[in-house]
Amino acid sequence: MNPVPGIGERPSSHSAFGAHGSVLVINSGSSSVKYQLVNPVGGEAIASGLVERIGESSSLLKHTYGGNKTERTDPIADHGAALRAVLAVFEEVGPDLDEAHVVAVGHRVVHGGAVFSEPALVDDDVVAAIEEIAPLAPLHNPANLRGIQVARELLPDVPHVVVFDTAFFQGLPAAASTYALDHEVAQKHGVRRYGFHGTSHQYVSGKVARVLGRRLEDLNTIVLHLGNGASASAVRGGVAVETSMGMTPLEGLVMGTRTGDIDPAVIVHLHRNAGMSIDAIDDLLNRRSGLKGLAGENDFRELHNLVEAGDEAARLALDVYVHRLRKYIGAYYAVLGRVDVIAFTAGVGENDDIVRGLALQGLEGLGIAVDPERNAGRKSQPTIISPDWTRTLVMVVPTNEELAIARQALALVAPE
Ligand code: ADP
Repeated sequence: MNPVPGIGERPSSHSAFGAHGSVLVINSGSSSVKYQLVNPVGGEAIASGLVERIGESSSLLKHTYGGNKTERTDPIADHGAALRAVLAVFEEVGPDLDEAHVVAVGHRVVHGGAVFSEPALVDDDVVAAIEEIAPLAPLHNPANLRGIQVARELLPDVPHVVVFDTAFFQGLPAAASTYALDHEVAQKHGVRRYGFHGTSHQYVSGKVARVLGRRLEDLNTIVLHLGNGASASAVRGGVAVETSMGMTPLEGLVMGTRTGDIDPAVIVHLHRNAGMSIDAIDDLLNRRSGLKGLAGENDFRELHNLVEAGDEAARLALDVYVHRLRKYIGAYYAVLGRVDVIAFTAGVGENDDIVRGLALQGLEGLGIAVDPERNAGRKSQPTIISPDWTRTLVMVVPTNEELAIARQALALVAPE
């Protein structure tokens, strides 16, 4: 692989891309690579894109820069080819990565195990540690690692930083992170609650304080990250004290295709009595359940259409989803003792006023309510959606995981 020259030099002075240069954020999945070139100071995405269906004949690269969208449909065999194609499209349609002064590449890594509570500068030891954690996240960490390896080869002169989805939850109180499982078995096999979507929960809880002009230390916040994957967290004074995902991103809320909480004896039953293999059960719980399993549809826009058309399975799916969400909100209220803010974020949280309204229905006795007019519609900016009288503010706060990764990467390579 030919390294790309020039990248990694510090900007000599102010450039069109800002005095701190830019950070290339890479999110490498099993068959996709998403990327964003971010101005970590101004916060804007300079360019972004994704490569989908890596390894298939129908690979697709989409790149957006300056309002122009570029698409390439050449087959892309592997992650190395994907990143080379991304760098080629930067060269062809811009922005020029030399001019953008890429000061760091920030990689999203799903599982940091019990090792990583902070972002880390990538070296061979860090790569080995991520490899060691891979059995805990067999779908995610190996794919993340492939992205890191090829990016390091292609961009060798720029520091690479890994930012972990689990890091924000590394400090969970032991009472929240411990399963009531035989201590020795748990210890030996790393079985504990790690939590995920941490970059988003940390970003949103911090953003809430900034938007309200309050000190983070003074705020108790419940963050509801509702995307295709979904998780809730309780954050006391900027510190995470509970979260709904556990050893893997399967625990907790009902999700697009995942069950969330389920009696673990169901797995034993399906294996023993229904003759399902462990791999088949894994597939069932992670990819054929949740809204999709209940209603055949995991996109809320479609699900609402089905509900309106009288589809009973869709109605039940919506009810189960909202019921679980409300149950968690009540639990986290009890964990925190006092809730100043409930913040909705991610695809569903930012866009779906029906889910937001239903999740908090009937909670007036707890000092929680949603104002229908303020709640209406999609929100692209932080917005208060509770009425004036409530003790708890309900907000929609769009998440920005790429910006959070870019800022954490910059803080590591160029501390103020
Ligand atoms: P991911 O976990 O894949 O990052 P996102 O945060 O992008 O997911 O959320 C994707 C989900 O957001 C979709 O499956 C859909 O249910 C929901 N969504 C997106 N746009 C809307 C919308 N306008 N109205 C309701 N739901 C939406």
